[in-house]
Amino acid sequence: MNETILRTEGLKTFYILDVFGAQKVVKAVNDVNLNIRTNEVYGIAGESGCGKTTLLKALAAAIEPPLRLVDGYIFYYIDGKAVDVATLSPEAKRRLRLDYIAYVPQGSMSALNPVIKLKETYQDFISSHVSGKSKEETIQLAERHIAELGLPPKILDSYPHQLSGGMRQRVTIALAALLKPSIIIADEPTTALDVVVQRGVVQLLMDIQKKLKNTIILVTHDMGVQANIADRVGIMYAGKIVEESTTEKIYGDPQHPYTQFLINSLPQFGDKSTRQSVPGSPPSLIDLPSGCAFHPRCPHAMKICMEQTPDLITLDTDHKVACWLVGGEHGKTA
Ligand code: SF4
Repeated sequence: MNETILRTEGLKTFYILDVFGAQKVVKAVNDVNLNIRTNEVYGIAGESGCGKTTLLKALAAAIEPPLRLVDGYIFYYIDGKAVDVATLSPEAKRRLRLDYIAYVPQGSMSALNPVIKLKETYQDFISSHVSGKSKEETIQLAERHIAELGLPPKILDSYPHQLSGGMRQRVTIALAALLKPSIIIADEPTTALDVVVQRGVVQLLMDIQKKLKNTIILVTHDMGVQANIADRVGIMYAGKIVEESTTEKIYGDPQHPYTQFLINSLPQFGDKSTRQSVPGSPPSLIDLPSGCAFHPRCPHAMKICMEQTPDLITLDTDHKVACWLVGGEHGKTA
């Protein structure tokens, strides 16, 4: 098994809002324990509004006031040593983000400066990370890198708006990989792209991971994309990881009713029956249901589900589930 590169313990990230004088707490990430490894693609899936992006930002040490990292720990394993992110100075956090992690935000336009050509964006990026390189050297480095990833070097003479959405997204991902980061954190990199273009973006991520043997943490609600690229998948619901396993087990033997709905909603070759979607809507993160937050939508809900929150328990190696149906006195396997 690969070594741990990033670990969280009881991570909570809440937004404290002032709504007409009343304080409201948005529990976007609520007690998340992750153990992400070197040389793997870890996928995080779930419906919109379940806290995926906040979790990614917390992992990238990019949560700033007025957001509050209320509780819990994030450890990065750098040269084999665990570094507690909370103990780092703002400057050390900035260096961690620059040297160790690359963050690909949602929407490629937000990562690229719209009023300068891509080669200038590359120059800015390289000169802010690597000292002592001349302008010509940074352009040569950018051209070489773009060509190695199978993208046409002439795109460096373009402005972002002159490229298609798919090409812009690939340029953004290529930029993130330029300095060989140990971890690439990608937030919905295939959103709003058609399936053919999505395939190019997914392939680029896979090529980069194969080449660098680094870690990619990929958030997408698209279970088809997760199936293609992820080694392990964590299913997130209402700020919590409710199931985590290898991609094979998540798709082949999902245990949590929410995961089962997500898998069953996927189109299957040759099956023309109507796909089943998750009933109801995700809960407000300001006003979560009692007990298991999925209980108002769950066809198997029992009394205990409304009263007590199930822990994420280990079923077998690499398979964890938080559901009263599984592995306990109320469960099938009891
Ligand atoms: Fe459904 Fe209960 Fe399991 Fe929640 S704990 S998913 S409500 S069976």
